[in-house]
Amino acid sequence: MEDAFRFADELGPAKIIHVHEPGVGLRGTLVVDNTAAGPAIGGLRMAPDVSTQECFRLARAMTLKNAAAGLPHGGGKSVLYGDPGMPVERKERLVRAMACALGDVTDYIFGPDMGTDETCMAWVRSEIGRAVGLPREIGGIPLDELGATGFGLAHACDVAAARRGFPLAGARVVVQGLGSVGLHAARFLAARGAVLVAASDSRGAIHDPKGLDVEALAALKRAGRSVAEHGAGRPLAADGLIAVECEIWIPAARPDAIREDNAAQLRARLVVPGANIPATPGAERWLHEHGVLFVPDFIANAGGVICAAMEYHGASQRAAFEAIEEKIRSNTDAVLRESERRGVPPREAAVELAVSRVKRAMGWRRWSIF
Ligand code: NAD
Repeated sequence: MEDAFRFADELGPAKIIHVHEPGVGLRGTLVVDNTAAGPAIGGLRMAPDVSTQECFRLARAMTLKNAAAGLPHGGGKSVLYGDPGMPVERKERLVRAMACALGDVTDYIFGPDMGTDETCMAWVRSEIGRAVGLPREIGGIPLDELGATGFGLAHACDVAAARRGFPLAGARVVVQGLGSVGLHAARFLAARGAVLVAASDSRGAIHDPKGLDVEALAALKRAGRSVAEHGAGRPLAADGLIAVECEIWIPAARPDAIREDNAAQLRARLVVPGANIPATPGAERWLHEHGVLFVPDFIANAGGVICAAMEYHGASQRAAFEAIEEKIRSNTDAVLRESERRGVPPREAAVELAVSRVKRAMGWRRWSIF
């Protein structure tokens, strides 16, 4: 008993469901964390090494992210065990089986995450009638193609830079992980006059203090090539990116990119994360104590889920982007003001904001978390 309830606390999870279908080799887990604000939205992650623990942590992060963004949705997440690069026929069968196995859990809405995409969401929708992050042809707003998260991130940078007293125009930016989030963030920031001075992907990193050509890098990435093949600037070792002098450092790749052992190398005034859990708690605290403003990930990178929720409610692309701008700007501002007012790290202020919203929603339910 104790083991099965090891994640349980006052916010959730409401349910953890494991599904298994040997006929197609399906093994998957769904965590519906808290649905006080509405049906849970959260991505389906596909990877060989996922776990119940990871699924729970991501589901809780969605509860906080959706609450902070003021969405009428709770938090959940699902994980599917398997290599996302498997032949597409097998992947389709597994994703469809996962959807069927969980089709009657109507308080969970599937979305895309690592290892799944809009095609997977179209398969889910065709099986159970609900999913977000759909292709345009069936009412989707293609959030990665349009750069919804990067768009929101650029607004978070703008608000945070103003609080630190410098303008975006001329600010030097470093992006770790020039993928869908990182690349669009770089583009939206460049459009506001910021200068991308260094960037990386899984195959290399480059640095040019005079500024890199973001559109040329975008073309290179579209062609499936690496930033290391750009030809401009100076190549950097991947772990050298953290020491590049800049105003804004954007982690947009893997978890725990900033840790206790490398945080002191950072020479930035702001960290604005595209990635989820990009720093260890100790490193985030250390940065706060040393004057680096760290905008919490679930505040800065909520653009994707705001877009997905707007899609679910039938909004247009334009309305979705207006909602992202408005919510990310006001939340970033509220969190940073509260953190300054009370002298606490921004994460503490952000968690309190989100948890107080979840708790208010819980107070209106007969049962608190569902
Ligand atoms: P992506 O796969 O499109 O891009 C990831 C990029 O990171 C790729 O360019 C990859 O080459 C690079 N990368 C991988 N390992 C690296 C390493 N060790 N060093 C440097 N670069 C590395 O993924 P994405 O959708 O852009 O997501 C990036 C992060 O943002 C993830 O943590 C994801 O959970 C988070 N996130 C994404 C969204 C979204 O809307 N896509 C929303 C919120 C948060």
